[in-house]
Amino acid sequence: MNNKYRVAVIPGDGIGKEVMPEGLRVLEKAAQRFDIALELTHIDWASCDYYLQHGDMMPPDWKAQLGEMDALLFGAVGWPETVPDNVSLWGSLLKFRREFDQYVNLRPVRLFDGVPCPLAGRKPGDIDFLIVRENTEGEYTNLGGVMFAGTEREIVIQESVFSRHGADRVLKFAFDMASSRDRRHLTVATKSNGIAISMPWWDARADEIGRSYPDVTIDKQHIDILAARFVLQPQRFDVVVASNLFGDILSDLGPACTGTIGLAPSANLNPDRSAPSLFEPVHGSAPDIYGRNIANPIAMIWSAALMLDFLSGGEGSGRAAHDAILAAIEHVLREGPRTPDLGGSASTTEVGLAIANLI
Ligand code: ATP
Ligand code: MG
Repeated sequence: MNNKYRVAVIPGDGIGKEVMPEGLRVLEKAAQRFDIALELTHIDWASCDYYLQHGDMMPPDWKAQLGEMDALLFGAVGWPETVPDNVSLWGSLLKFRREFDQYVNLRPVRLFDGVPCPLAGRKPGDIDFLIVRENTEGEYTNLGGVMFAGTEREIVIQESVFSRHGADRVLKFAFDMASSRDRRHLTVATKSNGIAISMPWWDARADEIGRSYPDVTIDKQHIDILAARFVLQPQRFDVVVASNLFGDILSDLGPACTGTIGLAPSANLNPDRSAPSLFEPVHGSAPDIYGRNIANPIAMIWSAALMLDFLSGGEGSGRAAHDAILAAIEHVLREGPRTPDLGGSASTTEVGLAIANLI
């Protein structure tokens, strides 16, 4: 593929503004080395600074501006001292996810050599899997309400709504991922023993979709034991697919099992490519360390690598660029330099430079 990819670069707030330059440094180096044409548009809105000046997180025509893009590279949003988190989050990131129909939330989970693992006795290679979370429906449907409010009979109902369209598309994505990997193993998170309507249905959809992927082994696991196994037997997992709520929980637990939050990347994907996908570190704006140039830039850099991989459809130069960035990250985690969250004393810039120099 020799397309030119249009990418909106949105640093956002706090350490988003410190890690983004390192993400771009590595991205541009990889693009140059692997001959990938990028057209970057720098965006200073979708930030709390912008909100304080304009009373809104984004300009009214944000959707038209960003809808032209192939991808959004995002830093972090939020500055709770001046703007409540629900305002900043709902006014930017959550609008992107919804309006651009980013129905897959993808989080790679991997333990690297040189990173202390909170789980005793784990070595690199034991933990290397992908979490695929349904990002648009399920348990997070805003339907329901309180009845008989203020009386002894008060009850609250919140519905979960799953659609065949919504479940099938995320399951297909997960099966595609699994079938492209060496182990071809898909764990389906469920709770069909306790949630007796929606979860047996979800399992049946997984079986139905799975019929088209005879090379992929399906392993359905109840969410409670599945969470325990993330901790006790992480080497069991290759690709894990989960509904919105279960995926939300697993996608914090997974990265927590592999060390610092400063490493964890994520992708909010619109796999149909009808709108841009968004790539961002899992961490937030970290006001407690902002301004000291000590934030770990690796989650941001890895997110940029995921973006190249997705844009190229997991093939050719984009995949090669992704793999080269990951190899450079691996090298730096093993040999240093390291930021303070990993016990080192290097700056954000030094780590970014070290990774870029290895590309
Ligand atoms: P959010 O509200 O966006 O989910 P949060 O505000 O609860 O996140 P973060 O901003 O992610 O949390 O910060 C949580 C903790 O992790 C903080 O102590 C922060 O300093 C630390 N942290 C976050 N990102 C990094 C990073 N890239 N490098 C080092 N430490 C980090
Ligand atoms: Mg925050």
